[in-house]
Amino acid sequence: MKISEIFGNLTFNDRVMREKLSFEVFRRFRATIEQGEPMTRDVAECIAHALKEWALENNATHYTHWFHPLTGQTAEKHDAFLQFHGDGEPIERFFASELMQGEPDASSFPSGGTRTTFEARGYTAWDPKSPCFIIEGDLANTLCIPSVFFSYNGDSLDKKSTLIRSAMVLEDAAKELLGVMDYPVPERIFVTAGAEQEYYLISREDYRQREDLALTGRTLLGAPPIRGQKLSDHYFGSILPDVKAFMEDVELALYRLGVPCKTRHNEVAPGQYEIAPVFEEVNIAADHNQLMMMMLKQKAAARGFALLLHEKPFQGLNGSGKHNNWSMADNAGTNYFSPGRNREEFLRFLCFLVAFINAVHRHEVFIRASVATASNDHRLGGHEAPPSIISVFVGSALEQVLTDLKSGNFTELNGLEVIRAGLKYVPQIEKDNTDRNRTSPVAFTGNKFEFRAVGSAQPLGFPNTILNTAMAESLRELAGIIQKENNGKQNREESILAALSTLLQRCDRVVFNGNCYSRKWQMEAEKRGLSNLKATPEALRAAFQNEKETAFLLEAGVLNRTELNARYEIKVEEYAKRVEIEARTLLKLIRKDVRPALAAQLKELEFLNWGIRTRYREAVEQLERDSTGLSGELDGLQGIDGNEKQAQFCYGSILPLMKKVRESSDFLEEETDRKLWRLPDYDQMLSRR
Ligand code: ADP
Ligand code: MG
Repeated sequence: MKISEIFGNLTFNDRVMREKLSFEVFRRFRATIEQGEPMTRDVAECIAHALKEWALENNATHYTHWFHPLTGQTAEKHDAFLQFHGDGEPIERFFASELMQGEPDASSFPSGGTRTTFEARGYTAWDPKSPCFIIEGDLANTLCIPSVFFSYNGDSLDKKSTLIRSAMVLEDAAKELLGVMDYPVPERIFVTAGAEQEYYLISREDYRQREDLALTGRTLLGAPPIRGQKLSDHYFGSILPDVKAFMEDVELALYRLGVPCKTRHNEVAPGQYEIAPVFEEVNIAADHNQLMMMMLKQKAAARGFALLLHEKPFQGLNGSGKHNNWSMADNAGTNYFSPGRNREEFLRFLCFLVAFINAVHRHEVFIRASVATASNDHRLGGHEAPPSIISVFVGSALEQVLTDLKSGNFTELNGLEVIRAGLKYVPQIEKDNTDRNRTSPVAFTGNKFEFRAVGSAQPLGFPNTILNTAMAESLRELAGIIQKENNGKQNREESILAALSTLLQRCDRVVFNGNCYSRKWQMEAEKRGLSNLKATPEALRAAFQNEKETAFLLEAGVLNRTELNARYEIKVEEYAKRVEIEARTLLKLIRKDVRPALAAQLKELEFLNWGIRTRYREAVEQLERDSTGLSGELDGLQGIDGNEKQAQFCYGSILPLMKKVRESSDFLEEETDRKLWRLPDYDQMLSRR
């Protein structure tokens, strides 16, 4: 089978459009997505008709605007193409108005107070840049139209519209900088993103017996496994046949949807895997990542697996992230984070590199907040995950270049070195410009930055909106400094170098090439004035509730005040709700699964005069006390007014008690008869390797 032959078969892509549209309509459509020319009604009418014809050929009966509300999921509301002629004859029709705009009843989507239920109108509008696609069903298919979602007042209610705004702002800023540098300005500059997606697979049988996994996505109890990931024998191990069949299922489905899957492998923990695509323009990469998560879930279920996208399904084992590879490119194929082939290109690269470092320096708080969720909190700072201190890794070669630059010296990167392995007939290997540093939350990896703190379950929209907007501001700052330097009578290169030196002096506190997991770095980071926002409520508060932190988003016009407040409210509320659901689920497990086992075990121990008897009884009593305490705190939570206070209470009071309940329960699990303990244990759930 050739992937190239099925790739994108379920998408209304350029090839189909060229075939189905007149030359003129196709040309005008391209002008809209490439040059931003407004789409006229007649063009839209032609496209709607062709789209419908193509959808019908592909067995679609319905269409839907497919959008990304602030829940973090995708949303769809299907309508049939079916209409009736005057004479009552049924016919399939699809109008431009239906393609371009939809009005789902939006009252039940989170709006963070942007709208009240009686002014619930929300509109979806077609995003012509992201190809329409077909989702197959058992009997018939559905045409999906990627869309943005906003309110009656034009406020953004989704993750896509703000992402698009941020990319536009960044494009303008990059062009401005290139202009000031006297470099050629290309027609289009865009962000490229490729998200490495990690996940766990466990057997569906085990999953069914763990209500905590079903309701919260993570195990709320469970004694540590005996083997776990200790032998590191799963990482890059040969893929078991049933897992490989699952991966092929997923990839084939995604190829047909035009999602360019590239890499698959076993991850560090048993049962943990990764799938990574070829990078694409960020707006499309974000859509494709959603499709990827959807297909992973669907195909796992179909093959007797359960898919866990939670950032920390198993305590003490590696969490799952979504390494967000991020770079900038133009229509001529230039990658602005590639060191280039000559002095000019290297200088341009340095400008973008230093501007990025400066963007992180200025907005480390918002960058941290952009990945703050209740579930990701368990991962950041844990096994193999970056800490909640945001810093940038550039590697030793570039660090030297930057150190020189700071003191006004321009050194070029030495040509790539060759690694000598001492094997005569094995091809020579070229050394990368950077080694890998797994501990850094933002790492430069040769020709792109890798933002590793993004959670596995998170959509790409918000973190990239923040990166793009921060970078846009920073590029403008650099342009401003270069202009100032230009006023002296230096030549162009000198003024750029002087500007870079100035900027580096401001921002290089955020560069760190050592081990970010170490205690030493925590202390060092504090000295450098970097924040260490460990929990979601404080991270969100520090970012969203501080005029100084929000200014860059407001000034860029990426988020207005209403939109910012709405996002804050939604995120804080979601945090509190998730922790509350976890606490209630934990108590349910204790009552329905754990306690019956303990009662039976206690009875058995009565007849034995073993030392464990006292310790067991004590642990049971401790568990009872902590569970009662937790239950009391949950009652207390009901009386607290306001999302922010609830979230803080969840963090300060509920989570610590959940931890105590778990400690007793995990001790008791290890001491309880296998036949009595109903929940599948860690060793069982992680037995696939
Ligand atoms: P690494 O092994 O260093 O992480 P890979 O080449 O395997 O690098 O790429 C990992 C991910 O980074 C892939 O999803 C890939 O698409 C993405 N990626 C590569 N180049 C770029 C780029 N220029 N912009 C954005 N993402 C990129
Ligand atoms: Mg990588």
